[in-house]
Amino acid sequence: MNTYMSQTLIFDAHLDLAMNAIEWNRDLTRPLNEIRQREMHMKDRPDRGKGTVCLPELRKGKIGLVVATQLSRYTPYGSSLPGWHSPQQAWAMTQAQLAWYKEMEAMGEMIQITNLNELDTHLSLWNDINISDDSKPVGYILSLEGADSLVDISYLHKAYENGLRAIGLSHFGHGRYAPGTKMEGSLTPLGLELLKQINSLNLILDVTHLTDDGFNEAMDFYQGPVWASHHNVRKIVPNQRQLTDDQIKRLIERDSIIGGMLDCWAMDIRFIDTVSDPWQLNIKLENLVDHWDHICQIAGNSLHVAIGSDLDGIFGTEQCPWDMNSIADLQKYKEILSRRGYNEVDIQNIFHKNWIRFLNKAWE
Ligand SMILES: [Zn+2]
Repeated sequence: MNTYMSQTLIFDAHLDLAMNAIEWNRDLTRPLNEIRQREMHMKDRPDRGKGTVCLPELRKGKIGLVVATQLSRYTPYGSSLPGWHSPQQAWAMTQAQLAWYKEMEAMGEMIQITNLNELDTHLSLWNDINISDDSKPVGYILSLEGADSLVDISYLHKAYENGLRAIGLSHFGHGRYAPGTKMEGSLTPLGLELLKQINSLNLILDVTHLTDDGFNEAMDFYQGPVWASHHNVRKIVPNQRQLTDDQIKRLIERDSIIGGMLDCWAMDIRFIDTVSDPWQLNIKLENLVDHWDHICQIAGNSLHVAIGSDLDGIFGTEQCPWDMNSIADLQKYKEILSRRGYNEVDIQNIFHKNWIRFLNKAWE
């Protein structure tokens, strides 16, 4: 196999691994077929038997480094959105998720990355062609998707001690710190207080899932590193969940990175959750390149786009590009991008170099 044909390291900046393990009861150390087969009789969720992510598939696709989330929402009395009925319960769920990551570390399946030394050691391991990828642990940077579970601001410091290095203030609906997707309005007073503490710890602020007002306030107020871990382009998919051109410009000015996501709903405006079929609408992996192109055109380079797939983020193959079966298919982007005119340097940037450059700057 020549170098061109061999796989390139991929950094995926958004995977809800622990949520799948704890809430979906998926043993991610097992082969994908086995995980799917065990769910064939289950009808509790639309994505049963349709998962695309597990640790063997990550290794098979040379996805050696990920941002892995803790995700647990609080929902107040009267709200119809799913979520825990108290912040304390939400915190407890994030701790179960953390315990799962620690168990994966104990098995040698994963390894937590919290600083540049650990990052460099991990990258040398994955770049060592004398060691088979099958035996390499998947590195993870711990991120909290939505801050509801922080019972009060002091919990942020506990989370940091546990290795938390990135945080988003909101997810879906009302949030204790900021309203999220499908909402409007400003960060809450508690959210502004939390941002100060996030700043003091120099955590990476994830702007994905903020409202437009929340995005502006966070960008004005927050001085530390900012990324958009899983976010597409609103010009192509005109809904509030995606980034406007002005938001993209502000992110580029901050030398930020935007992770492209593979939820059909975020790739093509025609797609309706639980109704549409990716095959009928012909939504393919290549559709994400349209989003990347748009951002690269604004930036004038390929330095601000990357992968934040969100695969198995409460959806499976029923809501992914039809030409992918597992997360290992992310490697197909090598061929797709070169067909679309991206050169080897661009491909390396998108596959991992942009996120690595970002981390080197954020953690120096
Ligand atoms: Zn998300």
